[in-house]
Amino acid sequence: MQLKGKVALVTGSAQGIGKAIAVALAKAGANIIISDINLELANKTAEEIKALGVKTMSVKLNVADATEAEEVVKQAKEAMGQIDILVNNAGITRDTLFIRMKKEDWDLVLNINLNGVFNMCKAVVPLMMKQRFGRIINIASIVGEMGNFGQANYAASKAGVIGLTKTLARETAPRGITVNAIAPGFIQTAMTDKIPEEVKQKMMAQIPMAKLGQPEDVANACLFLASEAAAYITGQVINVNGGMLMNT
Ligand code: NAP
Repeated sequence: MQLKGKVALVTGSAQGIGKAIAVALAKAGANIIISDINLELANKTAEEIKALGVKTMSVKLNVADATEAEEVVKQAKEAMGQIDILVNNAGITRDTLFIRMKKEDWDLVLNINLNGVFNMCKAVVPLMMKQRFGRIINIASIVGEMGNFGQANYAASKAGVIGLTKTLARETAPRGITVNAIAPGFIQTAMTDKIPEEVKQKMMAQIPMAKLGQPEDVANACLFLASEAAAYITGQVINVNGGMLMNT
């Protein structure tokens, strides 16, 4: 799957799944914009990826800030000439049972995980429409499809991302843009490292493959959706979950 000459902007890509996605797209030849709230780590990741022989740039970006999102997209377009692939990966959790969930934690998760995707799409879609080409890949979650104890805010945000994906796919398909989501199950990253061991064991019992996924498992699905091989696929949710949830 070749992406030579394409430019990809990946949010929250200093580490974890976003970094694995950036590496996979770079290995296929794409030039990469690493954007993350953690600029120091973003700079380091961009340097590592540059060693793969592609152009990179790193920028500080809080996806929840619409003005910052617009500014980063403008800078990236100026520096790289175009944006062909947008991967909305930045996301956080603030887990607790609904009964104890504070309004601040509801708002924070929705602002980053859902409004963040809105902000980035608002900034990038007009460029893609002019180009008559674009690939948008939104990182949702299995939790947005099935819910999960202690994750009302997170589940609602990811279900929202799925709804946004399907609507944007319908609206932009005539302009050569595809919009898809990936719904990872439980993937080994800093996000899941926080989960207590006993909860992890309970989750593992529900996974037919009996192991957590790796960031590269999600990255491979993302590479496929970004590539020419997925040209006729839009509005879909691709599950990468070891068999934990099987949709029709
Ligand atoms: P991660 O290891 O925590 O990495 C996420 C990155 O995004 C971090 O560098 C984080 O910076 C950054 N970030 C946080 N808030 C941001 C903001 N407002 N704007 C820009 N960047 C921000 O998480 P991950 O596990 O790789 O998850 C990546 C995506 O996959 C998320 O959308 C997550 O919901 C989704 N996902 C993950 C799993 C899983 O099992 N890991 C499963 C399903 C879906 P800081 O560390 O400084 O906050």
